[in-house]
Amino acid sequence: MARYTGPVCKLCRREGEKLFLKGKRCFTEKCAIERRNYPPGEHGTGRRRRPSEYQQQLREKQKVKRIYGLVENQFKNLFEDAANISGVTGENLIIALETRLDNVVYRLGLAPSRKSARQLVNHGHVRVDGRTMDIPSYEVSPGEEISLHDDAREMPIVKESVADAENKETLNWLGADYENFSGRMLERPSRADIPLAVDEHLIVELYSK
Ligand code: SF4
Repeated sequence: MARYTGPVCKLCRREGEKLFLKGKRCFTEKCAIERRNYPPGEHGTGRRRRPSEYQQQLREKQKVKRIYGLVENQFKNLFEDAANISGVTGENLIIALETRLDNVVYRLGLAPSRKSARQLVNHGHVRVDGRTMDIPSYEVSPGEEISLHDDAREMPIVKESVADAENKETLNWLGADYENFSGRMLERPSRADIPLAVDEHLIVELYSK
C-alpha cells in the first residue's frame, strides 16, 4: 500500500486529536485541530456515534501508524516481530517504533517532525557511529551515536529544530549534543519512558482476532 501523501492535518482531524505530524505548527493556533476539531468530509460536523469495540481497536492502530508514518505492511511486520520476542507484545511494539532511526532523530530534536527526520535519513544526511545510514527503519542500539552530515547542519529546518530542542528537556533515554548536531541512545527505553498517549492493548486485540 502506498504511503499517504495528502494533507496530514486531515489525519489528525480524522482521529479527533493532535498527532503532531507537522512540527512547530502543531503547537500554534494554526493547528487544524484547534480550529476545526471535527472529522473531514461533508458529514464531519454531524453527531458522532459511539464507536464499536472493533472501531476503537482499528482507530488506535491507524493512529499509531500515522504518528510514526508507516504503511500497513511495515506496521504489521513490526507487530509480528514484537509478538515473537519475549515480553508484552504491545510494549515491544511501541519500543520497536521508538528505536527506529527516523524516530530517534526526531526525538533528539535534530528534525522538527518524524517526516522530516525520515527525509534526512533517506537523503543520506544521517550517520550512525560515523557511517551514513539511509534506512529509516534501522534499529538504533544503546550507545550508538547519531549525527548529521555537515550539509544538513546548515539546513534552516535543522537549525531551527535544534534551537527549539535546546530549550526543551530531552527524553531520559537519549543524550543530545546540540553543539555537534548529534546524540546517543543512552539505554533502551521502557514503555514508561515513552510519551505516547495510545492504548497499544487495543492494537494487540485487533491483530489477535
Ligand atoms: Fe495535526 Fe499538527 Fe496539523 Fe495540528 S498542525 S492538525 S497537530 S499535523
